[in-house]
Amino acid sequence: MFYYKVALPLGIPRDFCYSSKSKIAYGARVLVPLKGKLMLGICLDEQAAGKLRYKPIAEALDPEPVIPEDLITLAEWMANYYHCTIGKALFAMLPAKLHIDVDSELSWIGPIEEIPEEFQCLFEVLKNSTPKSISSLRQSFPNLPLYQLAEAAAAAGFIKITNKLRHRDKPKIQNYIKIVSSSFDENSLPLKQREAWELIKTQIHPFPMADISNYVSYSCLKALVKKGIIEIFPKEVPAAELLKNAASKAKNIVLNSAQQQAIKEILEDFKQFRVHLLYGVTGSGKTEIYIEIIRKYLEAGKSVIFLIPEIALTPQMLDRFDSSFGDELAVLHSQLTDSQRFAQWQKLQKGECHIALGARSAIFAPLKNLGLIIVDEEHEQSYKQDSIPRYNGRDLAIVRARNNNAQIILGSATPSLESWNNYLLGKYKIHYLLQRPLNYGLPSVKILDLRDGESPELITPELISAIAMRMENKEQVILFQNRRGYSSFVQCLKCGKLITCPNCEISMYYHRDREEMQCHYCGSFFPVPRRCPSCNAFSFAYGAPGTQKVEQNLRILFPMAKILRLDSDSSRTNLRTMYQRMKNREVDILLGTQMITKGLDFPNVTLVGIINADISLNIPDFRAAERTFQLLTQVAGRSGRADKGGEVIIQTYNPEHYAIQFAGKQDFEGFAKAEIAFRKRLFYPPHYRLARILFQHNDLQELCKEMNRLQKDALPTQTESLMILGPSPAPFSKINQLYRYHVILKGKTPHDIKEAIAYIIEGFKTKLHHQIDIDPMMLM
Ligand code: ADP
Ligand code: ZN
Repeated sequence: MFYYKVALPLGIPRDFCYSSKSKIAYGARVLVPLKGKLMLGICLDEQAAGKLRYKPIAEALDPEPVIPEDLITLAEWMANYYHCTIGKALFAMLPAKLHIDVDSELSWIGPIEEIPEEFQCLFEVLKNSTPKSISSLRQSFPNLPLYQLAEAAAAAGFIKITNKLRHRDKPKIQNYIKIVSSSFDENSLPLKQREAWELIKTQIHPFPMADISNYVSYSCLKALVKKGIIEIFPKEVPAAELLKNAASKAKNIVLNSAQQQAIKEILEDFKQFRVHLLYGVTGSGKTEIYIEIIRKYLEAGKSVIFLIPEIALTPQMLDRFDSSFGDELAVLHSQLTDSQRFAQWQKLQKGECHIALGARSAIFAPLKNLGLIIVDEEHEQSYKQDSIPRYNGRDLAIVRARNNNAQIILGSATPSLESWNNYLLGKYKIHYLLQRPLNYGLPSVKILDLRDGESPELITPELISAIAMRMENKEQVILFQNRRGYSSFVQCLKCGKLITCPNCEISMYYHRDREEMQCHYCGSFFPVPRRCPSCNAFSFAYGAPGTQKVEQNLRILFPMAKILRLDSDSSRTNLRTMYQRMKNREVDILLGTQMITKGLDFPNVTLVGIINADISLNIPDFRAAERTFQLLTQVAGRSGRADKGGEVIIQTYNPEHYAIQFAGKQDFEGFAKAEIAFRKRLFYPPHYRLARILFQHNDLQELCKEMNRLQKDALPTQTESLMILGPSPAPFSKINQLYRYHVILKGKTPHDIKEAIAYIIEGFKTKLHHQIDIDPMMLM
């Protein structure tokens, strides 16, 4: 007999362990009984037979480990550091495709004669045509590898497995548009159809209808179909929609001396653990450095993980990697179905490719022989996962690199203060790239004070004339407004009633394109009321403007300009089309939210306008200034990426704010100095470590009662190395019908935090739902 610990999502059951007649691989999936049911678990190390109770492992599903040993070590670290179960950590690493459903039902669908010997047992129990779950079959055949049999029988077409787990596996079908004829008189078309044709005719290949549905009505397209000009047909969206671009080839770039210097210094630590911070202004050529260093590791037979934030996974970025590395590259992004993702994962596991490129969760790529991890845009908050396990991909990257004695590079134009501080403390090695290649200058920045205006203007005359100049010169403009929708609230002018979300008690956004009110926290929506729900009046005031409102103004100001709006309301597949159209200069003005701040490099963009820089500044969070500085610097960096020189115009009501001032000067080090001093005064990171425990309940009274009890009886004593704020209502005090209170812990070391949390969780026995967030990105 062999005895194993098995990790279930809930954790490792404490009082028993599991036995098996044959040996099972460490990190393989197994089915084990728990409370009369079967569960999927991950097999961990062997146990010495002792006083524990034993249960037999029902079935081992994998002959080889699906989770390599170094990831199990990482999962243990995560469980300990983030206060989650090791099961949660391991299951976050397992591709969705391998999360099997033990309650899936089997039914016989094949012939009932000449059944292969090995499936005979299945036939015996399924032949009377009632579907049975695998769990229930197990009772009849305790000793058979039922799950594997069922899969084999399903593959051979004898049975059907009905899964209750929802895998995202359906091929995505979309309507595409194809041009059938272009030999007709364009001027004969009515205006609307001619406008639609203008958009369509530039596309050589069929393209998704969704790409233009914001600008062209369906009836208009139908009219073009009727005239035999276009055809609309359903088509499966290709798997690698984001990936391949036929005509991309590697640029021949001669690295400049700053780039060569950085590469030389980084390679001094070739094949050994060391954290390198690559601080390079936007467009300074960091990506070229990554590519060069990755090459070196591949040549040495090592594999590489390259993390970038989801929004920076742009077609442009992928093209660059694709043209440099082609088949060596596996891309893991959120647009893939579970099967597609699994296919990429397998290629890495089998060693068929050696670079994993992807967002946050790509840090769990099953690579062997890991030599290098790169975290681009390391400051990005999207590296932090906001559901359990609440890990930060960048921080895990450092841990995984250290465990594997691999090298790690963190890159950014606006490093996080945590990383910057680690450099100041001598923990990280720094490399500067302070100039753009070929001596392209950084853009000049102008800050416009909105307070002077008589009536508040969305787009000031200065910005208008700067845009007009680009339109005349046939150059392109990027405008940034980090708020989607039309306006941030709708309020009755007569009685003052604010339209609020029924679940969250906060104001809802007005979305003009769908004439809807939307809650940006829980996602609920309903049609815009024609009359005030409380006094029946007809007139409303509208809150702060979002992208839709800016777009409307632009169309009035620049009726001839081709304007493209990009935010999470316009579909995500638009990204490639946007990129193509920007590149082909079919767009004059690109308007968007933070989706457009990353990874875009268009030489013809000479003006970036920030409609309102205050949006992120007004968020009630201690990182508001840092976020604002980062956003402004990153968007500003989209301007002047070639010899034409660039200009940036920032509109703001807070022109003197240090975040805006330093962003205006593109002075990261100045900003970091001011901000670190500020954080130090308030005991915030990077000076102190932070954690928060969030308590939620649908009954406010009950919640308050418990919070009083926590306050009185269950908090540890404060010391110089541990500060406790709260319990107090969270800034968003109700979301999704749940009232929210939190306790914030500031500790001098991770150990102080850990002890305090253990103290609270053990001492404060409560039925309240609670969430522990270590190194939280937001305290909302
Ligand atoms: P970053 O990643 O720092 O934002 P990129 O690597 O994207 O910068 O470089 C910005 C632009 O400059 C890209 O178009 C890139 O091809 C180009 N570039 C980078 N290094 C050089 C170089 N040494 N010579 C010429 N062009 C370069
Ligand atoms: Zn809501």
